[in-house]
Amino acid sequence: MPELPDVEGYRRILADEGEGRRVDEVRVADPGVLREVTPGGLRRALRGRRIEAADRHGKWLVARTDGPALLLHFGMTGRLVGCPADEPPHRHDRVVFDLDDGRQLRFRDQRKLQGIRLARDRAAVDRLLAGQGPDALSVDAAGLDRLLAGRRAGVKAVLTDQSVLAGLGNLLADEILWRARIHPSRRTDGLDRAERRRLADAMRRVLRDSVRVGHVPARRASLTAHRDDAEPTCPRCGGPLRRDRIAGRTTAWCPHCQPPP
Ligand SMILES: [Zn+2]
Repeated sequence: MPELPDVEGYRRILADEGEGRRVDEVRVADPGVLREVTPGGLRRALRGRRIEAADRHGKWLVARTDGPALLLHFGMTGRLVGCPADEPPHRHDRVVFDLDDGRQLRFRDQRKLQGIRLARDRAAVDRLLAGQGPDALSVDAAGLDRLLAGRRAGVKAVLTDQSVLAGLGNLLADEILWRARIHPSRRTDGLDRAERRRLADAMRRVLRDSVRVGHVPARRASLTAHRDDAEPTCPRCGGPLRRDRIAGRTTAWCPHCQPPP
């Protein structure tokens, strides 16, 4: 499932392939990915427009043009692909944007979770993103302290709540908590100063590493690399990992390194 590092990878594709290019045509193969805009409306709004900037906030990608902005959310299975126009269509290509250099941007999504929205202007973009917390990549230790202050919910639930902090999903949250040695069910307001500092450090390091490669790291010394093994063990202590549902999601942690509350 795309999280902040994946979407940052799509932002780079949009920037590299799209910035400065004109959208010559918009073809909607499946309107199931559109929210509050029709295929004709999307085409009329974007055809002939020039892409000026590729921005990201949390898991949202924003393509700003010299007219409206396009907002993309990748849901469970979405991705953005840049390719030559003569590349054979993929059966999950839902919307294709023809650029003026003979290349295409394709919104590819196996599921159809209405990830594409149109915003008439900058104010409309801000309105659509108003419910999002600050982007996780922009939050430092002091900022994280302020966001967590007084919250009684479990720390995993808080970290993955996009209205608190935008960008973290299931894998990132588990990886960060494992690295910080904090059990995902710990009450957020029960974390002491040293634990909050470890959490902030772990978040910064995990985000930095994973943004570099465009996905949550599956390096050997990570929880992510081991969590789906048949008999997963902790790459730090060698003990067995646990898996269970926490905050509504399949959660992995090490009961030795991350003592339960
Ligand atoms: Zn361990």
